[in-house]
Amino acid sequence: MTMELRWDPLLGEWVMVSSVRRARPWLPTGFCPFCPGAPETGYGWRVVVLENRYPMLSPNPPEPSKHRFYKTGRALGRCLILVETPEHNVDDISDLPVDQIRLVLKTLQDVVAEESRRDYASYLLWFRNKGVEIGVSLTHPHSQIYITPFIPVRVKRELRSFKMYLKKTERCLLCDIIRVEEEDKVRLLHSTPTWTAFMPFHPHWPFEALLTPRRHVQLLTELDHRELGDLALMLKLVLCGFKNIFRKPTPYMLVLHQAPLKGNHNYYHLHLEIYGVEREENKMKYAAGMENGGGNFTYDTSRGERGGS
Ligand SMILES: [Zn+2]
Ligand SMILES: [Zn+2]
Ligand SMILES: [Zn+2]
Repeated sequence: MTMELRWDPLLGEWVMVSSVRRARPWLPTGFCPFCPGAPETGYGWRVVVLENRYPMLSPNPPEPSKHRFYKTGRALGRCLILVETPEHNVDDISDLPVDQIRLVLKTLQDVVAEESRRDYASYLLWFRNKGVEIGVSLTHPHSQIYITPFIPVRVKRELRSFKMYLKKTERCLLCDIIRVEEEDKVRLLHSTPTWTAFMPFHPHWPFEALLTPRRHVQLLTELDHRELGDLALMLKLVLCGFKNIFRKPTPYMLVLHQAPLKGNHNYYHLHLEIYGVEREENKMKYAAGMENGGGNFTYDTSRGERGGS
């Protein structure tokens, strides 16, 4: 079995390599491993955290292969599944009551607190993929948690930008962006006393949202009771807004960008990003040649700027 990190020297980033997925057993049709009463879930829960059965990372990974030229590393870490409700037939997290979404976030907060204490844990990435269009095979509402021994590349880039901006202006980049968005108003999606959500000025995806707490915080564990409740409400409103665009559920990806778990990163500002990938009814935008090969995104404004005013 292979489970290791391979260093891409051209791009300067890790690739997680694993053969565990090939061992995926045949599941009877109609069987859901996330429903109450399944072997790993049991009964009597409202939200449950499971080990991913086909992980890319493990607390006890095998020794990585050795190569005379290329660099490899141990696939130390953890991959978890956050099952967001016992109810199988709910379509999306946004269909859950705010109170239940809050419980999902509270559970996630507990995982962040617990995993920060592990030696291998450099970073905790929470993400959610929605829709068969982007490869989601199990429809029972769930999201994923990767605890990685490295800082993901996009977060690394953001950390650098925040650091540079602070050096130049002595201010936080995202605190300034919140101010600009609230002055411009046109891209604002929703605001509460503790959070604001807007469509970025520079979107990569057809429908994109950035959700950020007003308070300058770095980790999910720093959010207080009220901020967590407001985040639950914001998630529901923004994701329901996405559904309203096409008057039906639409595929999206959601990711939490927080600071690395180790060290002091008080120049950084936590936020969530949501990428709606459907550009017109049943037409997806793909990260294709320009986006993957060049790394720069294209965005079509001919349907008019969204966001309302
Ligand atoms: Zn289920
Ligand atoms: Zn800030
Ligand atoms: Zn980000």
